[in-house]
Amino acid sequence: MTIQKGSIGVTTDNIFPVIKKFLYSDHEIFLRELVSNAVDATQKLKTLSSFGEFKGELGEMNVKVTVNKEAGTLTVSDRGIGMTSEDIDKYINQIAFSGAEEFLEKYKDNANAIIGHFGLGFYSAFMVAKKVEIISLSYKEGAEAVKWSCDGSPEFTMEKADKADRGTYIVLYIDDENKKFLEQNEIDLLLKKYCRFLPVPVISGFEKEWKDGKYVDTDRPNVVNITEPTWSKKPSELTDEDYRNFYHDLYPGQEDPLFWIHLNVDYPFNLTGILFFPKIKNNFEITKNRIQLYCNQVYVTDSVEGVVPEFMMLLQGVIDSPDIPLNVSRSYLQADTAVKKISGYITKKVASRLEEIFKNDRADFEKKWDDIKIFIEYGMLTDQKFCDAAMKFVLLKDTEGKHYTLEEYRTLIEGTQTDKDGNVVYIYTNDPVAQYTYIKAATDKGYNVLLMDGQLDSHFIGLLESKLEKARFVRVDADVVDNLIPKADKKEADLTAQQRDMLTEIFRSQLPKVDKANFLVTFEALSSSANPILITQDEYMRRMKDMAAMQPGMSFYGELPDSYNLIVNTESPVTRRIMEAADADLMPKLKPVMDNIAKFNSEAEEIRKSAKDGKLDDNQQSQVKKLDDDVASQRNEENRLSKEYASSQPLVRQAIDLALLANGLLRGHDLDEFIRRSVALL
Ligand code: ADP
Repeated sequence: MTIQKGSIGVTTDNIFPVIKKFLYSDHEIFLRELVSNAVDATQKLKTLSSFGEFKGELGEMNVKVTVNKEAGTLTVSDRGIGMTSEDIDKYINQIAFSGAEEFLEKYKDNANAIIGHFGLGFYSAFMVAKKVEIISLSYKEGAEAVKWSCDGSPEFTMEKADKADRGTYIVLYIDDENKKFLEQNEIDLLLKKYCRFLPVPVISGFEKEWKDGKYVDTDRPNVVNITEPTWSKKPSELTDEDYRNFYHDLYPGQEDPLFWIHLNVDYPFNLTGILFFPKIKNNFEITKNRIQLYCNQVYVTDSVEGVVPEFMMLLQGVIDSPDIPLNVSRSYLQADTAVKKISGYITKKVASRLEEIFKNDRADFEKKWDDIKIFIEYGMLTDQKFCDAAMKFVLLKDTEGKHYTLEEYRTLIEGTQTDKDGNVVYIYTNDPVAQYTYIKAATDKGYNVLLMDGQLDSHFIGLLESKLEKARFVRVDADVVDNLIPKADKKEADLTAQQRDMLTEIFRSQLPKVDKANFLVTFEALSSSANPILITQDEYMRRMKDMAAMQPGMSFYGELPDSYNLIVNTESPVTRRIMEAADADLMPKLKPVMDNIAKFNSEAEEIRKSAKDGKLDDNQQSQVKKLDDDVASQRNEENRLSKEYASSQPLVRQAIDLALLANGLLRGHDLDEFIRRSVALL
């Protein structure tokens, strides 16, 4: 008997094509919507019963999902509160739909938003069905069973039905394009994705067993979900094993997590969950195994951008909150104050848990440091609050593998590594193998060298420089060890100007051509045990180039050749030998040339000075020009003599090559020549 016929109260002409068209990509969530409606109806009845408002027997309170391939139907049934015809009219037939079209256009790619916005959960069934029936019997005394039916046009029918048992059947007549939803396997996969942790048992098909060489159905109903997931339990009831098992359940095939954090708040918002620190092996795992967001144990999404602070995207686990407005766009989410609070809370909780682990079990914390470092540094770089909290437990590791807090490290190096201006100098290496010689020189001098070879370390160094007072970071090869930390009592190289000129030319002439590299010859009185020649790279320039490599638009710096300092240690016995030999053999020939240069230069200078108003007359001009030419030719002579002399001194080239070798700058032909020369010298 027909009770009612009518049109569903929507203002658009026909909601169904809209649903089908716009929600194409997310079709599968219809199942989540129907099953969670069934779960809600079940929970409501349980609540009514506990308040004494429902006095009947609850009986078994399952939700069943049944596929009938022959009939082409998928049925979701429950034994919850059910609906009377009035209920159906109120909750199903009348859907307020103002501004629908505009909204749909805006959110056409976000089915969650559309469904949530209009309370359209039930109607998502029409994404996959050509016809939907509701057969329901309300829990209310004297209620009559009712059957609602709609074929995808706005017209529906409602009639009396035969249904003796309380609850609701939602029957979907699956349309031709969505036949896959009639496959038990497909349904089981979807239930596993969306319904795995629902609080009411969800039954789909039968448990299978291995018999006669294949899997066959048993007569035991297959429960797809865990009704009390680990995160909904009290931490005090859980063992480490429970957490690990839960983690492996969520992300099969992963290594054990390093730590976990059990979240549990009920004021000012509701939120539970467990976050895990994974052992990150590669980037792929980061993008694949993400934090899952639940709303009252219903899976919603694993795109949690906006809900958790960005740096926590590296974590895994679940967050369950009814207070996160899931049905809105991302930009709205990020501006939402509730969400901001949630994100702030999670940050605080993660920071305090890390501090607790650090305090309670420092050895374990240090052991895991290499794995959590990237997370903590990322957090400090991107989140001010986290950064402040983490200053207490972030660790620095030195080249010997020892760990220090920032405070401990400062205490350690303050005495030895403070420069003449009172800055504490933090020396670091980003490549302990390539920079071995420098590290050794620094540690021999009693300095400590930090290992900063992580992906984020170059940025992290910048952060620390801005956070720590009177602190400066310098890479171990940025200068010779005595200059890394400039002290007041620095000894100057003891050379006359002419000696300087001569030696500069001797060394410059013997430098092999190195691709994309410029060298500036300088002299330093370093310790006599230090190498005769050292090559360093300016810290500032190097950082600029490093940054340029990472940022587009700074290619100017990237194009510049690397500029190195070739530092001649005037105190080294080897250099002394070179200098003494040159003084004896080259200087007598060079001195007259140098004197000439000095003489011509000063004569030219005199003429320039005597010029009236700075203007030279023709005669003066030609005199100056001649003198300049003479200087140039004497310079050529000087260079020729120096070069000729230097080439006869294998020690010069050998000392240079050794320094190049220590920096990985000696290659190809030059390397080969070096080896031959070394053999000859033996
Ligand atoms: P929402 O769940 O967001 O309110 P729906 O369109 O999914 O929107 O459902 C509308 C209403 O229909 C629900 O609020 C509920 O009152 C009723 N309803 C849907 N499914 C069931 C069910 N299986 N049992 C009882 N009532 C239901």
